[in-house]
Amino acid sequence: MTAARLLEGAPFATDIRAKVASDVEAFTVAQGRPPGLAVVICGRSAPSMVYLERILKGAAAVGVKAEMVDVEGEDAAEMEVGLTRALRRLNADPAVNGIIVQMPLPPGVRLRAVVDAIDPLKDIDGIHPLNAGLVRLGFEGFVPATAHAALEMIHRSGVEVRGADAVVIGRSAVVGMPLAFLLTKEDATVTVCHSKTRDLAEVTRRADIVVVAAGQPGLVNGEMLKPGAVVIDVGINVLEGRIVGDVDFESARAVAGAITPVPGGVGPLTNALLLSHLVRAAQRQASEAMEVAET
Ligand code: NAD
Repeated sequence: MTAARLLEGAPFATDIRAKVASDVEAFTVAQGRPPGLAVVICGRSAPSMVYLERILKGAAAVGVKAEMVDVEGEDAAEMEVGLTRALRRLNADPAVNGIIVQMPLPPGVRLRAVVDAIDPLKDIDGIHPLNAGLVRLGFEGFVPATAHAALEMIHRSGVEVRGADAVVIGRSAVVGMPLAFLLTKEDATVTVCHSKTRDLAEVTRRADIVVVAAGQPGLVNGEMLKPGAVVIDVGINVLEGRIVGDVDFESARAVAGAITPVPGGVGPLTNALLLSHLVRAAQRQASEAMEVAET
């Protein structure tokens, strides 16, 4: 049996970044300033910092003005107040077009506080209920970048989504559920699996497309796949000092038709798409500001 085609994120991410860079340049010429991104971090942790620095570096490389906003506090309640204040300030700042809040939040800090405070027009990672609702209803809204990246990978695998049996493992609001809605909109027959699913292998063996976003290393292996299936591994886990996904790569690769590696698959695409969301937000805000000025 031949090994599956590798779906690497970097080449796709390079294409997206090139388009973003030219859009950023056009925006900067038209508006006299670059699009602005704010990354809000609440309680610094080492893995978050690595991820955030990558986002900030990527933003600077395409000409975006990116700032990191640190929120501190003695306890969760103080941090929540600080977070709300920071978000209100960023909402009101016309030079900031997109806001990302680093997840997970520290223990005790409620996601609800973030969701209540962030301006949906600047919510480029799709956490506000307005965006989640728009996506759910099949309208244009900001899709969480990771779910968007997984969908792009599926498109770029060349598989026919319409009519395909797709399985999404994981039902989180940021990955699993939005992806299930997006695949349904594209006419796949979607099954969502989660930690209480009785027989995962029985479901995955029927699937033409398997997306795994569970945070469980080795959850899916080759024996659980239909030959030729497209496998998208969203998981990011640290195992014995190495970054691995949720899929047992070697056994899956021998059976699948196409598969994303971890690292180097969905991750790089996620960051590039986040920047494309920022450009969309900036363009939209600029055209709305123009409409207001004309009335
Ligand atoms: P989450 O913890 O919010 O959700 C995990 C989901 O997996 C839950 O719905 C749970 O029911 C399900 N699950 C857990 N164990 C399972 C099992 N044994 N069988 C079936 N389902 C099971 O996680 P999340 O935020 O959705 O993230 C999922 C994974 O994706 C994590 O590894 C995370 O690090 C990774 N992630 C990657 C990116 C990226 O850019 N590649 C971005 C965000 C998250």
